[in-house]
Amino acid sequence: MVWFSYHGGHSGEFCDHAASSLQEVVEAAIDRGFTHYGLSEHCPRYREQDLYPGEERLGTEGLIRAFDGYVTRAFALRDAYAGQIELLIGFETEKLPPERWLEAMRLLKSAHAFDYVVGSVHDIDGRWIDYSPQDTRRLAEDLGGTEAMQLAYFRSVTDMVEQLRPDVVAHLDLVRKFEPAGFAFSARVAKEIERLLEAIKAHDGVIDVNCAAARNGYGPVYPLPQILSRAREMDIPVTFGDDSHGVKTVGVGLDLSRQAVCAAGYTQVSYLTRDKGWQRADIADVQPGRVG
Ligand SMILES: [Zn+2]
Ligand SMILES: [Zn+2]
Repeated sequence: MVWFSYHGGHSGEFCDHAASSLQEVVEAAIDRGFTHYGLSEHCPRYREQDLYPGEERLGTEGLIRAFDGYVTRAFALRDAYAGQIELLIGFETEKLPPERWLEAMRLLKSAHAFDYVVGSVHDIDGRWIDYSPQDTRRLAEDLGGTEAMQLAYFRSVTDMVEQLRPDVVAHLDLVRKFEPAGFAFSARVAKEIERLLEAIKAHDGVIDVNCAAARNGYGPVYPLPQILSRAREMDIPVTFGDDSHGVKTVGVGLDLSRQAVCAAGYTQVSYLTRDKGWQRADIADVQPGRVG
C-alpha cells in the first residue's frame, strides 16, 4: 500500500496562514497512514507588494528567514522520521516578481538539495486570483471579463510549465476557485487548457489532484472532471495533493482526489520516491498504509 501527497505540508512554524509546527504536521501524516509525504512550503516573495495579506509585519526579509528555517527543519525531520515515513522536500513556486520570477525560482531551487518543485501560479500581473471573490471579480473586470482572466491564467501556467518545468503542476484550474457549482470553462478556454496539458505532457509534468477546493467548499477537486478525463486520454500522470496547512488538514479530503482519479478512468497514480524517482501504483494499492 502507498498513500501520498506532494503538495502541502505547510506549517504555522514557517507559513503565516498555516497552523501547527512542522513536526506536528509530519507526525499527523504518519498517524494518517502516509507512506510518502511531500513538504512544499511557499517560496519567499521578494517584493513588498507580493506579500500575502497578513504578512506585512514579516516583510520580505522575514519571509526569506522563515523559508531558510523551513529548509533546515524539513531536512532534519526527513532524517529523524526516515524509519516511519518517506518525506520529500520541495517548495511551491510563485510567478513573482513578474519580470524575474524564473531567475528567482531557479536560484531558490539550486540553493538547496530539494527533491522536487511544485509549480503554482496564484497571480496575474501580481494580483492574486485565489484570495477573495471580490478581488478576483475586480481583476476579471480589469482584464476585460472572466473569460479573459481565465485565458490569461492558463497562458501563464503554460508559460510556467515550459520555462520552469516543475515536477508537479499544482491546482491546475485554481482560477475557477470562486465560480459557482456546476461551472464549466468555455470552448475558448478549453482550447487554452488543451495547450497547457500538451505542455505538461511534453515536459513530463505530473498533475496535482488537489482536494483543497472540495474540502473548502469550492466545487470538485482541482482540476475539474473534464480536464482530468482529457489528461487521462493524453496519458499524463497524476498524483495527489492535500494542500495541508496544519494538522487539521493533513490528508483531509484526499479520498475525493482518489475518487476523481478513478472517475476519470485512471488505473494508476504516480508517487515520487527519493531513490527511484516517480513510480506508478495501481489504484487498488493506493490507500492509507496504516491508520493510528
Ligand atoms: Zn498556503
Ligand atoms: Zn497553491
